[in-house]
This record gives sequence, C-alpha cells and structure tokens, in this order.
Amino acid sequence: MTQHNETKAVRLQTRKTGEKEHSTPLFLTSSFTYDSAEDMAAAFADDTLDVNIYSRFSNPTTDEFIAKIAALEGAEDGVATATGMAAVFGTFMTFLSQGDHILSSSAVFGSTHTIITKYLPKWGIDYSYFDMNDPSTVESLIKPETKLLYVETPSNPGLDIIDLEFLSGICKKHHVLLVVDNCFATPAVQQPIKFGADLVIHSATKFIDGQGRVLGGVVVGREELIKPLYLFIRNTGPSMSPFNAWVLTKSLETLFIRMDRHAASALQVAQKLEGHPALSMVKYPFLPSHPQHDIARKMMSNGGGIITFDLKGGIESGRKFLNSLQMLSMTNNLGDSRTIASHPASTTHSKLTVEERNAVGITPGLVRVSIGLEHPDDILSDILQALEKIQ
Ligand SMILES: *Cc1c(COP(=O)(O)O)cnc(C)c1O
Repeated sequence: MTQHNETKAVRLQTRKTGEKEHSTPLFLTSSFTYDSAEDMAAAFADDTLDVNIYSRFSNPTTDEFIAKIAALEGAEDGVATATGMAAVFGTFMTFLSQGDHILSSSAVFGSTHTIITKYLPKWGIDYSYFDMNDPSTVESLIKPETKLLYVETPSNPGLDIIDLEFLSGICKKHHVLLVVDNCFATPAVQQPIKFGADLVIHSATKFIDGQGRVLGGVVVGREELIKPLYLFIRNTGPSMSPFNAWVLTKSLETLFIRMDRHAASALQVAQKLEGHPALSMVKYPFLPSHPQHDIARKMMSNGGGIITFDLKGGIESGRKFLNSLQMLSMTNNLGDSRTIASHPASTTHSKLTVEERNAVGITPGLVRVSIGLEHPDDILSDILQALEKIQ
C-alpha cells in the first residue's frame, strides 16, 4: 500500500530496538562494535557497506531522518550535515573542481553568497550570477566550464521565485547539475525533484525543526550523486549529530500540519497588510500581486510561511519598526513556531554595499516576517501597532 507523504512523515521508522518502543529511539553513541575481527575488517574494507562504524560516517537515528526527508522529497537517498551551510559547502566541494564555473541566482542566502564570491574563487572556481526576475539570461551565461546551477526558490529574503522546469530544461541540455535550496518551502510545500532538480538542499534549522532548537542540513537526490557527497562529508567531518537528527525526525511528524498553519496565517496577514499607507510593497508567493505568482501556484501547494514588506521610510523606519514590536521576536532565525521579524538592511546584510544589497533584492525598508503558529490576529495586531508608531 503506497502511503501519502503526510503519513510517511509521521510513520516512516527505519529501526526498532528489542524494547518495542513506539517513538523513534535515539542512538546517542559515537561508535559501534563488531562480532569478530573479520567483521571489523570487512566494514573498513568497503566504504559502501551498509554497516554502522562511527557516527561521523552513519548512525541509525541520522539514517531515519535522511530516509524520511528523502521520501518526502521523492529522492533516492541523502546526506545529513551539521548545518545548512555544511550542506551547501559540501555540495560545492563535491561537484566543483579547479577551473569549473558555477552559475547561481544572485538572490541567495548571505553565507551562500560569501562562499560563492569569496571562497570558491580562492580555489580557482569561477562564478556568475543571474537575476531571478530575468530568467531569459540564464542560458547565455552557461559556459563550457559550468558544472552547477544553483538557485533558492523562494529566495531568502526576497521571495523571488523561478520556474524549475524551465531551468532544468537548460541544465539537461548543457549537462549542468541543477541544485535547489528548498529551505523556504520544505517538501511539504514544494518538491523540486518533480520539476527536474538533481539535488535538493535544506537548512533543517528552519521549518524542518520548526521550533528553533537545533541546527542541521541535508542534501537529497539520486544515489549516484549522493555517494560522492556522502564520502566528502564522512571524510571531512561536518556530519549531523544523532541528537539533532532525533529532534529533526520527530519534527518531521508535524511538518505538514505546521506548514499548513504557517501558510494560512501568512496569507491572512499579507492580505490584511496589502495597501497599508506605511508600506510601498507587500510580498507573498500566493498573493496575486507577487511578480511570479503563476509559477508559485504551479510549483507550491501553498505560499509558505514567510512574508516581506517594504517600509516607505527606509532604514530608519526599519529600526523603529523592530523597536516598536511587542510580541514578535527580534532574532535571525526563521521557520519557528514563534513569529520573527528581521530588517536585513540594518542587520544581516548591513556589511554589503548598496549595489550588493540591490543584487540580492534587499531594499533599505525591507522587513522579513517568518509567520509563526500564534493566532494570526495577534501577529497582525503587533505588526499594525508597530507600523502606527513609525508614521
Ligand atoms: C538559514 C539558511 C541557510 C543556512 O543554514 P544554516 O543551518 O544556518 O547553516 C541556507 N539557505 C537558506 C535559504 C537559509 O535560510
């Protein structure tokens, strides 16, 4: 009997001990033992053997998290990492070599931008950026050296969206890997592999944990791609902690119901804020005014949990808005059960030049709100009273 993904998220369990425990057990152990010297020799002789040796290599709790997220994304296999950035970096290091070129959307997460522009060139890996709002330029930017096309959709924090089917057509034609950061949507809302992505990356720190407790990352895709990535992570060390994997695999049990509530509240708040006199723009993938609304409807089952708006008063208004909030949290995380507001221009992206900020879609008055699981009226009231104070 094939199960729905909602059921797999709750029920998929890869290992039970003899104790008949109902909930997923936590295997908090650094290493595993052998029955004989011969078994130990065999485990080390073949790095593809399905046997647990050491928790940097594999661990039953981590394996369950990987199996579950791979099932939800429609992928064959996956690798779990200590953070989302370890997943991004591990992917770049596995599939890019000296002399190669990476093509990426310019609207990417801040640390991803830093890896692409500051670290990759140090190792002889060149990059180009494309504008997600102008997809017609993508194919012309592909060079013979291009090995990987990287995109976040929806992007953080600009909520730009691009048609993955369109990108995958270009990638297949030019034999380029399509790698998608699906952190904002989660597999409950969007499954990039269905639209032709080769690898899907998550910062599990965000909606997958969903309660702001642990850091984690994961990459899923076809077995032939996951194998070299697995060996890179296993040998270089940014593996996921089994404890974090246990938290995250339990979190996946509530992912669908949480994403439904995040999205329903986000839509409601975005609709009520649209047209507010203090705002020049309100952006949410499922608002008809979103520039890529049709693509969002095609790829996503709901609009996700993040909204952005632009304060007419710019930087100063942004600071004042944050200082006027009474309930919403001022913190850098997102995808939490608690609603979080951030003002990238004065915080996370303050070190970028104005041009760099524009390239990643950050205007001086841009505010990002990660809508939590509180009553939507309470979220809206706090935003409205803070907007009143800046006028
Ligand atoms: C947070 C985030 C990351 C990085 O994840 P960490 O777990 O913080 O390392 C990567 N991509 C996106 C879109 C993110 O929001």
